[in-house]
Amino acid sequence: MKRYSGWQQEAADLFFADLMGEPLPPPRVWTRSASTPPLMSAWPRAGWPFAGVVPPSRAVVEQNDLGEAIPLNGRGRFRHEPLGGEAGDNVEARWNVDAATASGSTVDIVVHLHGYGTPGSDFLARKAALAGLDMLDAAGAVRVRASSVPTLALVPRGRHVEGVRWLFDRLPDPAAFDALIAAAIAWLCTTVLRLPSGSTLVRGRLTLMAHSGGGAGLSALLAKGLDPDEVVCFDSMYGEDTPIRRWAEARIASPRAARSGLRVFYTGCSAPLPDYPAGRWIERPGGDPTYQQPGSWSWSEGDRKWRLTTTEVNARRLQHALDGALSRVTGGGAALAGRFRVERTSVGHNDIPARYSAPLLDDIAVTVPKATAPPPATTRPACVANDDWLTRSPRKPGGDDPKPPRPGRAAEAAVVDVEDVYAPPGGRAYSPSSSAAVFRTAPAPVAVTPASEWPEPTTDADGASQRALRALGVGAAGIAGFAGPGLAALRPIAAAFGEAALVELLRRLRYTPAQLAAPPHSFANDAALTRAFGRAVPRPVILALRTLLAIPGHFRELARQAGNEPEAFALENLGWLLLQSLRDDVRSASGLNFWMPSSPTFVTPFANPVPGMSSQAARLIVARMLIDTTLDNADYLARYGAWRGRAARHWRLETGRETSTMRPAGVPFYTEPFTIPASINIAAQRTQVQAAWARRLADVDAGRTTVPLTQCDNSYLTSLRLMSRVSLRGLQLRAQFPSPATAPSLASLTGLGAVQPAFEAAFQAVVDLGWNDLLFETQGMGCFRGKKVPGSPAAARRMSEHSMGIAIDLNAFENAQNTAGAMDPRIVALFEAFRFRWGRGFPTPDPMHFEYAG
Ligand SMILES: [Zn+2]
Repeated sequence: MKRYSGWQQEAADLFFADLMGEPLPPPRVWTRSASTPPLMSAWPRAGWPFAGVVPPSRAVVEQNDLGEAIPLNGRGRFRHEPLGGEAGDNVEARWNVDAATASGSTVDIVVHLHGYGTPGSDFLARKAALAGLDMLDAAGAVRVRASSVPTLALVPRGRHVEGVRWLFDRLPDPAAFDALIAAAIAWLCTTVLRLPSGSTLVRGRLTLMAHSGGGAGLSALLAKGLDPDEVVCFDSMYGEDTPIRRWAEARIASPRAARSGLRVFYTGCSAPLPDYPAGRWIERPGGDPTYQQPGSWSWSEGDRKWRLTTTEVNARRLQHALDGALSRVTGGGAALAGRFRVERTSVGHNDIPARYSAPLLDDIAVTVPKATAPPPATTRPACVANDDWLTRSPRKPGGDDPKPPRPGRAAEAAVVDVEDVYAPPGGRAYSPSSSAAVFRTAPAPVAVTPASEWPEPTTDADGASQRALRALGVGAAGIAGFAGPGLAALRPIAAAFGEAALVELLRRLRYTPAQLAAPPHSFANDAALTRAFGRAVPRPVILALRTLLAIPGHFRELARQAGNEPEAFALENLGWLLLQSLRDDVRSASGLNFWMPSSPTFVTPFANPVPGMSSQAARLIVARMLIDTTLDNADYLARYGAWRGRAARHWRLETGRETSTMRPAGVPFYTEPFTIPASINIAAQRTQVQAAWARRLADVDAGRTTVPLTQCDNSYLTSLRLMSRVSLRGLQLRAQFPSPATAPSLASLTGLGAVQPAFEAAFQAVVDLGWNDLLFETQGMGCFRGKKVPGSPAAARRMSEHSMGIAIDLNAFENAQNTAGAMDPRIVALFEAFRFRWGRGFPTPDPMHFEYAG
């Protein structure tokens, strides 16, 4: 058996902010009224002279008077000397054992190994409250394991070593563990049940639980051969999985499998910010700079190495091993899969045991809320850069450059101002999913571009633009091309956002450095673009127009970090207001009267006074004059109400406030707020259109038509009457980007009548979510033609799916064939959810193309 030491101990020691700042214990899960005082406050902790004997209390007397069945309301504590530590009780106990229990009865045992935390006289009481093991409600009725074998739960105190570290080295092996349980049973018999001398209880089923840093103690006990019936890990797998895996594999293969169980919960890890792979120092006004870690990675100054602090990697490796063990069970192990499983939870780290302990004690196979199956092993955790993470050491995304030195006074100018980073009250860290498994055809990069920077106005707008372009890989010649009109057009955006936020805006375009230097447009050539606007449009100027459309997306991602729904709405709203405000500035600066989609219907100026929101948002609203002094707060709330439909539900699903039944938190699109039209069979229509295509080929071959096969000729379809108008449901699309403001907008498209519901439902979803910034140009749908593969006459003879009126080309100007394209992952995920196939997966990649797949 492998010894528990070295790396496991080290990993278990790596605990940071979430454990350092331990919150107050959450309210007791079963409390219905405050009429019953907590027993621990019924007598002073100090001053009771008889260690190991529960002092009398008013609560006890009242219970006895009322003939309550469970002595002492199921709560007490005693000292078990081998555990050591400071004087006083060192084991908290909870039970649902009836006062009438006779000697020789069986009692099930639960042992909960607590996590790290700040020492103090009430340390163990706090840990017991977090453990969620109270089995009685406030009225004294048994709420946990009421109908099964009586249960005694123990929360032994670890040994405090230093800081917030606690070890279970006084509970090192099965012998020490058994001694603890024997002492607890003896104490229950004599002190609580007051059974006659010589009485005892038979030890039944054993459940071993660990929270957080207690996982190290749990692994040590399993490694030394302890063989519990059930094991529960509450975000505790910081160390390696070997002892737990071996125990689980042995149990699964044993005849006792159906009476055993392993439940493991982990919280998702996070990746470094792309711009700060080694973390960064953030200045605080009037205080020392604080270091922002690169996601779940922390720097060890001792050996100058990065260490990963997460439960995700080991928990998911364990799930992989469980899958293997279950598949080897005769019959496939499906019946056991509920008993032996690993899940990701969206419950906060410190709240997990209180949320899950009680239901798991009733049924180890129970389905608990806010927990979902992990993604497949082919999807690597967000905090890991290597695809072989299942078997090899995790590698840090963004490289292994060391933590930057703490800035001194001289270097203060280089320090990021705290106001640059969005940090709302109650805000939460958010990393978009990097899982390719949620797509049929995954975009690259997979994740929605994250945002962390708050706009920070600068007076050096041109310098900020040039530095931002350089940061994204644009060379000196490319940057020189921005001199004059290019920088002038970008100036309003750069002045309002500053360099750091501008980098994030530009990154959102998903452009290559060459595309940033010479942004694409929809026209055949630059001369055609000039004709459309009636004046020259230098290529670099287009970047400013395109960057405006990145602003709502930037604020949408910032909103994922908001502390509450009103703030999230305010941010999404703010993104669109800023786009419109800066659009006018860019029009003036560029001299171009260009089109931008108007804001979603939920967007509104802010009412005066600005409703309660973060000071950062409030200051930006005031600075940009985005307040309508005539607007009543009720009007603002009405727009908020409009957002609170589908857009807010999506926000809750994305941020894990609401658990999706289908997907983990953080993915780009959720189907729950929408109705996906059932699959539509178009075989009959296909036969008809193909017959028309055969006629056209024959006409071309016989010289009866001169229209090239790659051009539309819808005359062949007219008589079939299969096509109909497809409404855009309010989605604003133009046939070109950039487009003069005076050019016509598309009102509808033409497509196969049968699939009209699928298209319209998808468009409606884009509109309801306010995602028009991600989708604003189309080259159309219905077009009776052959496939366009440059230089391939053979391809032109094969009918394009556009001929069927079931395909649409979107944002074509920046998603050319044979390129990776720039399609936003949200759009890809949305259309895939509505049963469309993305052309990027075709043999000739076609990232502008989506076609109905049924
Ligand atoms: Zn297409």
